[in-house]
Amino acid sequence: MVCPACKSTEFNQQQTKGIGKVYSFTKIHISSEEFKHLTPYYIVVVDLDSGDRVTGRIKEEILINDAVELLSYEEDVYTFSRV
Ligand SMILES: [Zn+2]
Repeated sequence: MVCPACKSTEFNQQQTKGIGKVYSFTKIHISSEEFKHLTPYYIVVVDLDSGDRVTGRIKEEILINDAVELLSYEEDVYTFSRV
């Protein structure tokens, strides 16, 4: 992983409340075999209240700017839910 701003490979951990707004999303209808049981689902880019932007997954219908909160972080995947 590389910081897009300064190209550094050094990262810090940061606490967040896990709430934010949908910046962008795409709906997945057809996935690889591994995620087939989840379809349809959304890959969502969330702007967290802490100022960080993360990519995650959400099952519910969403729109740009919808408020979301973090449900879990497992196997390197952030899973969100609508607030
Ligand atoms: Zn940086």
